Amino acid sequence: MGLIGKGIGLSRTPAMHIAEAEAQGLRCTYDLIDTDTSDYAGHTLRDLLNIAEDSGYAGLNITYPYKVEVIDHLDDLSDGARAVGAVNTVIFRNGKRTGHNTDASGFKTAFEMYLGDSAHEHVVLIGAGGAGVAVAHALARSGVKRLSIFDTDEKRANDLSVQLHNSQTDCLSETVTDLERFLRNNAPDGIVNATPMGMEKLPGTAVPAELHRKSTWVADIVYFPLETQLLKEARAAACQTMPGSGMAVYQAVRAFELFTGRPADPARMKATFDAF
Ligand code: NAD
Repeated sequence: MGLIGKGIGLSRTPAMHIAEAEAQGLRCTYDLIDTDTSDYAGHTLRDLLNIAEDSGYAGLNITYPYKVEVIDHLDDLSDGARAVGAVNTVIFRNGKRTGHNTDASGFKTAFEMYLGDSAHEHVVLIGAGGAGVAVAHALARSGVKRLSIFDTDEKRANDLSVQLHNSQTDCLSETVTDLERFLRNNAPDGIVNATPMGMEKLPGTAVPAELHRKSTWVADIVYFPLETQLLKEARAAACQTMPGSGMAVYQAVRAFELFTGRPADPARMKATFDAF
């Protein structure tokens, strides 16, 4: 197995797959194919997929910036990947390449575990980039009926709203242009951050601390650090929270199952993730 992306040196995904395989008595190698490094200079995405398939990889994880581009090099897509329009897992089997989106299914599983019992009729999603699109579909599939999407790039928010409208008919989506005013005037059941804000290199939060309400849960998908400013301030306001490790672990759990055809142990994979 392997991961193709740029700047992926700190990814915890290889360790999760290797430890889970070892625990199941399987021999597994998981390569980081970082196209920012000189090792892969001059190779196109197509070349890298061909090399991996020809060398007998079970499959690949795909990350930034290739999740959409990779679709042109596949034979088939799962229904989930087709709806999201992006792929983060490719399986090579019987000469065929199939794309899946375990970001979406991973967020959905984590969401149902952490927050599934909480109200989730109306959710505010901050960030409509690659991960935000997967999260939006996962929320719609988890029963969210109204999704209010905010992105500083208004076109992205609008494009996601249209895409969601066309594929998830049970969920009404709208765009938000002034997040603070929207949060002052509405009491959503939940807020999800799918922007890079809160990462170590991009500190901060899009939600002012005084706008947290105890009745509004807060989820973050950033996991460097696990306790983002957003989550810290939400906890201080007694809100329920879900950390970014939820999505990160469950996307790997599902990918492991696709790579090996065997169930993975989520607790064991989370323990590996937490050991970093
Ligand atoms: P991206 O660059 O594709 O999208 C980010 C989006 O956020 C952009 O549309 C941008 O305009 C918007 N944005 C940035 N700052 C904003 C702000 N202050 N307010 C509103 N919108 C803002 O990035 P991505 O691939 O979607 O990743 C986003 C974050 O999610 C990254 O930190 C990434 O590490 C994390 N991520 C986590 C997981 C996980 O498994 N937990 C999976 C994928 C990505």
